[in-house]
Amino acid sequence: MLIDTHCHLTYEGLEEQQAEVVRRATLAGVLRMICIGTHPADHPRVLETLSAHGQVFGALGIHPHYAGEAAENFADELRYAIGSSDKVLAVGECGLDYHGNSALPPVQKTVFQRQIAIAEELHMPLILHVRDAHADALEIMRQHVNMRFVVHCFTGTPEECTRWLELGAYIGFTGVITYKNAPDVRAACQLVPEDRLLIETDAPYLTPQAVRKIKPNEPAFAAYVAERVAAERGWTLEQTGEITSANAVRLFGRALIE
Ligand SMILES: [Zn+2]
Repeated sequence: MLIDTHCHLTYEGLEEQQAEVVRRATLAGVLRMICIGTHPADHPRVLETLSAHGQVFGALGIHPHYAGEAAENFADELRYAIGSSDKVLAVGECGLDYHGNSALPPVQKTVFQRQIAIAEELHMPLILHVRDAHADALEIMRQHVNMRFVVHCFTGTPEECTRWLELGAYIGFTGVITYKNAPDVRAACQLVPEDRLLIETDAPYLTPQAVRKIKPNEPAFAAYVAERVAAERGWTLEQTGEITSANAVRLFGRALIE
């Protein structure tokens, strides 16, 4: 059994064929998926997805790409959306992204910190998106030492990975780990303690190398990520599934498998 801890089933390419996508995931042994909502207009669609599919759980947040568009009262909307389904297991994805043209860093930081406060208030784990902003994100998270959180789609250096592990982070690996140009990500994967490693697809993005020509990526392809993690760790595919699924349940709660 595998758990895809991060996918976007409401995004273009997947939403139109959602039932088929979930069915193919189940056939591939991906028995649970966590569908991530990234902006206010996306949240109701994620909530609908959770009602439609027993295997799909959710997380809701404001992605740093949308931080500049967050309304003054975004936190109220977010709290309300999270409270409207007990299948929402986490806050996020949220964080900092200094790559490309997202909102200015101070705006991103404010929107990020308000979501950390919501996670603390609701005693929920947090899903972090961090790209080219590890130092600033680490500085913020150091002020919240009791948070349970995952650094999703890890693409930093082994050194940055070590800093996150010191804060108790879980580390999520996607299809990036299968790409030729990602030796740092494979090196980071070898560093992560067995009880902190998660598998994810980030579908519809980041199709694993072996099926790279197939677009969009989908949760069924989590097996290719697991295969690569297994190779890096010297685990069997079965062990990889058991270990990473147990980790997902520890982070997101037993509701995920009950
Ligand atoms: Zn994502």
